[in-house]
Amino acid sequence: MRLVFLGPPGVGKGTQARRISEQRGLPHVATGDILRAAIREKTELGKTAKGYVDAGALVPDELVIRIVAERLEKPDAAGGFILDGFPRTLPQAEALDDILRERDLSLDRVLFFYASDETLVERISGRRSCACGAVYHVRFDPPKKEGICDRCGGRLSQRKDDREGTVRERLRVYGERTNDLIGYYDAAGILIRIDAGRSPDEVSRSVRQALS
Ligand code: AMP
Repeated sequence: MRLVFLGPPGVGKGTQARRISEQRGLPHVATGDILRAAIREKTELGKTAKGYVDAGALVPDELVIRIVAERLEKPDAAGGFILDGFPRTLPQAEALDDILRERDLSLDRVLFFYASDETLVERISGRRSCACGAVYHVRFDPPKKEGICDRCGGRLSQRKDDREGTVRERLRVYGERTNDLIGYYDAAGILIRIDAGRSPDEVSRSVRQALS
């Protein structure tokens, strides 16, 4: 299955994407994770992306489109994928369609996760993550030992762009750019709306239903 998980920052689409990725053996392709890894490793891509990511702004379309095109060429994506955090603009959505069309493929479903702004801010501000990819929430999903990753023992940290001022900017950018995509995929007849204001398990049930 070729899937896109769409929704504002903090809505929990990453958590749901990780679950479906494990259940179905589909690669979870999160552009935010790819960019953060590049920034950590100080690659050329990371150096270019850092200023945008830290400010909560969008990285230029051509850069993220290239990253995704290269990632989807890897053999593990041949049987399907879950895109998380991409596309975020109309040109990105059109480029994705072109990439797939060239291979006679198309998206199967786009899941749009929504929640109130209040819920989003609460989730983002409590989010803590580990370099190994594990993500926690100080209240809703705390690690066994405060500040330490259950999975690898690494130290948890708050993403720089999860701090309050940047969160507002990311939500503003989302409202301005990414909302357009809902109409785009609705018109294509592949959009399914998921109420993500509920518990992760309840949301997972809806996701499984949407994919069945
Ligand atoms: P995320 O982890 O999805 O919240 O992404 C974190 C940050 O990475 C965003 O605020 C952007 O700066 C950048 N980013 C991730 N995906 C994209 C994308 N598809 N287009 C542009 N910028 C992106």
